Amino acid sequence: MQRVEDSAFAETGRRRTLPRKKPAVIGLVLLGLLAVGLTGIKLYNLHRYHLETESRMMMDTVVSIHALGPEKITVPAMDRAFGRMAEVDARFNIHNPDSPIYAFNRFGTPITDPEILEVVRFALDISRRSGGAFDITVSPLIDLWGFYEDTPRVPAASDIAERLDRIGYEHLILRKDRLEKIHPDIRIDLGAVAKGYAIAQAVSVLKAHGVSSALVDAGGDVYALGKKGSRYWHVGIKGPRETQVLGYLEAEDTAVVGSGDYERFFTENGVRYHHIFDPRTGYPADGLSGITLIAPDPMAADAWATALFVLGPQEGMKLADTLADIQVVMVTTSGDTLLSAGLRGDTLQTIPTTE
Ligand code: ADP
Ligand code: MG
Repeated sequence: MQRVEDSAFAETGRRRTLPRKKPAVIGLVLLGLLAVGLTGIKLYNLHRYHLETESRMMMDTVVSIHALGPEKITVPAMDRAFGRMAEVDARFNIHNPDSPIYAFNRFGTPITDPEILEVVRFALDISRRSGGAFDITVSPLIDLWGFYEDTPRVPAASDIAERLDRIGYEHLILRKDRLEKIHPDIRIDLGAVAKGYAIAQAVSVLKAHGVSSALVDAGGDVYALGKKGSRYWHVGIKGPRETQVLGYLEAEDTAVVGSGDYERFFTENGVRYHHIFDPRTGYPADGLSGITLIAPDPMAADAWATALFVLGPQEGMKLADTLADIQVVMVTTSGDTLLSAGLRGDTLQTIPTTE
């Protein structure tokens, strides 16, 4: 992404909003304008750029949608976008007894739901490309560590080793129309991509219902659709520790997704243990505290955030620099901030700290 001055866009913005009318219509419009005067024009503009905002609780977080445009377009579009996200949430929630994932995990019922198969296919591709760092079969480990409950704890090393045997995406068989597993103990959890997929779905629904300017924010993972009128959407990039803000991006048609050791964690004997696991060791991935992915596709951003987090600063950044369309901000456990090749420069705007 490149930073472009807002003024460079002002002209294109105006050109786009001027309707092409026939001469007779133009005459009528001019008469109308004379009648309502300047106030009328201002009201029209206010109406055009009305920012509608709504938040709902879903996917274990607060999801907000901000959409710009006439209310009669934005309000129903947002309602449908939320509806679609709720459907995705229910379908991908491993604790929901009605979810095909629940039946697959518990009873080995093959998954035939096309939507889940599409996301699994995507996840398996990321697994291969990340050398197994990303793996939707880590579920038994998450369970062992107690991250599905409110009381996580460090398990015995022997239990971790035992669970590692039941982990590995190669234990899944993805056919054209069904997902099967080769061992009954294999379980899947699409938690590392589902939020990105839900955001992508919300954005398609908004677009299909006439919204061209919106910000979808699922607990800090966002997608900026179009621009905020003649300006960019400003998206903050969080540091892994609450008070930090690393900077902000001027975003347009971009997802900004974060992962980190601060989202779900516990400390035991002074050590921080979090919910992103290295499938090779059975322990939480180390090396990074936080990562932010900037990419056109929210599902890719979400998946790569988890994959690169597991790979850590060296391996992760090396791979990131080979990925087209993906930019990364990493914060290491020792507090260093690393930027992928495309971000080095003036794209990331540093907010001056006030003390
Ligand atoms: P969130 O933003 O909701 O914290 P993330 O995108 O950071 O989610 O993904 C974390 C979730 O991904 C974990 O809660 C777990 O369900 C799953 N997970 C943990 N480790 C891995 C891994 N190595 N590969 C794929 N999924 C993982
Ligand atoms: Mg993720």
